[in-house]
Amino acid sequence: MKFEVLASVAAAMTFALAMVGPALAADDVFRTTVGDLKVSMLSEAQREGGIDILIGASDQDVKKFIPSGKYLNAVAAYLVQSPEGAILIDTGYGTNLESNMRAVGVSPGDVRHLLITHSHGDHIGGLLNDGRPAFPNADVYVAKLEYEWSSAMRESLDKYGQSVKIIAPGELTDGGAEILPGIRAIAAYGHTPGHTVYLLESKGERLLIWGDLTHAMAIQMPRPGVTVRYDFDTEQAAASRKSVLEYLSRNGIPAAGMHVPYPGIGKIAPDLENPGGYSFEPLTK
Ligand SMILES: [Zn+2]
Repeated sequence: MKFEVLASVAAAMTFALAMVGPALAADDVFRTTVGDLKVSMLSEAQREGGIDILIGASDQDVKKFIPSGKYLNAVAAYLVQSPEGAILIDTGYGTNLESNMRAVGVSPGDVRHLLITHSHGDHIGGLLNDGRPAFPNADVYVAKLEYEWSSAMRESLDKYGQSVKIIAPGELTDGGAEILPGIRAIAAYGHTPGHTVYLLESKGERLLIWGDLTHAMAIQMPRPGVTVRYDFDTEQAAASRKSVLEYLSRNGIPAAGMHVPYPGIGKIAPDLENPGGYSFEPLTK
């Protein structure tokens, strides 16, 4: 997909993630479980990202962590099949979303809850289909600050009428705020004013869906202080990334990200070679 196409998909939406280079082959879906929940990474795209989007990366670190000048990047949404029904977290651009959902046995009408991390076009591009709700039976959850910030998102959400639920995410230190059984919304502001991450829990297992906590895994894991052009508030974005990574690492909670290359989900641990940094070990099943 060319950037011009993305721009039209994301018409009037700010800062859709632009990626460079041709699409790279990767499986469209990765499936795992969290207790009773079936979690699927639904890939919208996988490509190389460029170093031009980075802010605060030293030349030395770029050479060390991104020696080729390119790193793997992706766009994904996540689907959770729970005993209470299907829950979708973000929509990606909305390009491959429906076919990927159907591949795991879920149709758009089956989605009962749609959780939004933030309002960029590569996350809410699939909200509407021909101007109508693409998920007609879903309640849509979005953080109050994000809703107030993005007029473009409000326009799309208006079509969902009373199904839109404005939420107040909790603080990480409080474990967030429970919005559905086993699902907690946590404020991770900075990338956008209301950027929200979602912690799933079932049968003692947990997974954090961290939205856009990272854009360039190759350098932002070992150097969480590196930010990107798309961050609304770079300082706050870096602070959120550091505190969430520390929390996940300390509590042994795996994470899934919307711009984490296939399989999108992995385990977080301190990076002993890079103090202050973290490693990401992708899941294999
Ligand atoms: Zn994004």
